[in-house]
Amino acid sequence: MTNHRPVVRIIGAGPTGALLAILLQRRGHSVELYESRTDPRELPAESGRSINLALADRGIHALRWAGVFEEIEHALLPMRGRLIHDSQGRTSLQPYGQRSNEVIYSVSRHRLNQALLDVAARLPGVTAHFEHRFEAAEFDEGTALIRDLRRGRLITIPMEPLLATDGAGSAMRRRMSSLHLIDAHETDLEHGYKELSIPADSAGRFRLDRDALHIWPRGNFMLIALPNQDGSFTATLFLSKHGEPGFQQLTGAAAIDRFLSESFPDARELMPDAIAQFERNPVGFLGTVSASPWHHRGMTALIGDSAHAIVPFHGQGMNCCFEDCVEFDACMDRYSSWEGVFGEFFARRKPNTDAIAAMSLDNYREMRELVAHPKFQLQQALSLELERRHPGRFIPRYSMVMFHHEIPYETAQKRGFIQAGLLAELTAGAVSSVADVDFERARREIDARLSPL
Ligand SMILES: Cc1cc2nc3c(=O)[nH]c(=O)nc-3n(C[C@H](O)[C@H](O)[C@H](O)COP(=O)(O)OP(=O)(O)OC[C@H]3O[C@@H](n4cnc5c(N)ncnc54)[C@H](O)[C@@H]3O)c2cc1C
Repeated sequence: MTNHRPVVRIIGAGPTGALLAILLQRRGHSVELYESRTDPRELPAESGRSINLALADRGIHALRWAGVFEEIEHALLPMRGRLIHDSQGRTSLQPYGQRSNEVIYSVSRHRLNQALLDVAARLPGVTAHFEHRFEAAEFDEGTALIRDLRRGRLITIPMEPLLATDGAGSAMRRRMSSLHLIDAHETDLEHGYKELSIPADSAGRFRLDRDALHIWPRGNFMLIALPNQDGSFTATLFLSKHGEPGFQQLTGAAAIDRFLSESFPDARELMPDAIAQFERNPVGFLGTVSASPWHHRGMTALIGDSAHAIVPFHGQGMNCCFEDCVEFDACMDRYSSWEGVFGEFFARRKPNTDAIAAMSLDNYREMRELVAHPKFQLQQALSLELERRHPGRFIPRYSMVMFHHEIPYETAQKRGFIQAGLLAELTAGAVSSVADVDFERARREIDARLSPL
C-alpha cells in the first residue's frame, strides 16, 4: 500500500488486533480498534487466575519486527524441554532442542496483551474503543454496526477496510459464512480443558522445576503446567468431555479427588484446593476453524484466530497469529489496493495455517501418549543426533515449527512427514539405542530424500 493512507478499523484488540494496529500505524495509517471487553490495562496485572502461553521463535520474530519485543522480554520464563511425570512419580527431561537458544517461553497472556495495547495506544493515530462490540456487517452498504456497551447505542462505521481479529468465535466470520460470502467450518474436539493453579510455596518459590513445561501424559488425557513469574504454575487438564474418565462424569468432590489423586498423585499434592478449583473453573472448548477465503472484496479480512483457530497442542496459535501480522505487513508492500493485499495474504498464508492446524492435532497424541514410549524417546534422541550430523538438512519437525520462523509451516509438515518415515526405518526391529543406528544408511537416505534447507 503506498500513496493513499485511509483509516483502518479493527475489531478485536486481542494479541492479533493489537499487533496489527502497531504495524498499520507504522505504515502511516490511522487505526480505530473496537474491543468488546473492558481495557485489560485497567485490571491489575495478575487479577484472578494467571493464564500463560508458550511464546516461540515465530512470535518473537514478529514482536521484534514490530519493535515491541523489549516491552515484554523481561516477563518471559524460558522452558528448556518437556519434563515428563510418569504415573509412579518419576520424572525425565526431554530437551526441546540442542542449542542454548532453542527454548520456548512461558508468558502471561494478560501481560502480553497489556504490553501490546500499551504500545499501540501510545502511538499517534491509534485509538482504542473498549466495550464496543461488533454486531453486524451490511456488505451491500459497506458498513458495520458497533454497539457502544457503556452507552447502549449503535454506531455505524465504514468497512473500507474493517479487519476482523475477533478470535475463534468471530462474529464477522459467522456473518460472512451465513451470507455465503465465504465457506467456514468449526470442528470441535471431543476433548475439553480446565485450568488449575499450582501455587508457589510459602516463601514464594516454585514447587516444580521452573525451566520446563511439565507434562503428565496418561494415554487418553494429560495434565500440563507452565511456570508464572510469581512462582506459581498454571496447570491445564485436557480430557474427554464425555466417556470415562470425562469432564461430564467428574461431578462431586469425591469423584474429582479420586480422579486427580489416582492420575496425578504428585501434582495433586501441590494443589491443596484442587477440588474447589475444579468445581469453580469452567471446561473450555477446543477446536479448529477453517475458512476460505478470508476476505470479501476490499471491505474486510479475517486475520488470526478468526480465520484459522487451532487446537493448542503445539503452542502455536498465537505464534501463528503474530506471523500472520508480519505476512500481512509484507503483502502491504506489494499491493496498492486492499483487495490485492487480502487476496495475496490469503493465498500465501492458507497452506501454512492448514499445515499448523494438522500438526497441532498430531501433537495432542504425541503429548498425552507418545512422549512416554521408549520408541518415541529413541526417535527424539535420534532426530537430535541426525541434526548434529546433518545440519541444515535434517531438522526435527518440532524444531522447524518452534525455532525456525524462516521455515514455513507447510515445509515443516512436508519434511516432517519424510523424516518420520526415515526415523521409523532407522529404529525398526532390534534397534534400542542411538548407538545401534546405521548412520551410513542414514546419511545416504537423508541425501536422497531431503534437499538442503
Ligand atoms: C487452552 C489454550 C491454550 C493456548 N496456548 C497457547 C500457547 O501456548 N501458545 C500459543 O501461541 N497459543 C496458544 N493458544 C492460542 C492463543 O490463545 C490464540 O491463538 C490467540 O489468543 C489468538 O489471538 P487473536 O487476537 O486472534 O484472538 P483472541 O485472543 O481470541 O482475541 C480476540 C479479541 O476480540 C474480542 N472480540 C471478540 N468478539 C468481538 C466482537 N464481536 N466485537 C469486538 N471485539 C470482539 C475479544 O474480546 C478478544 O479480545 C492457546 C489457546 C487455548 C484455548
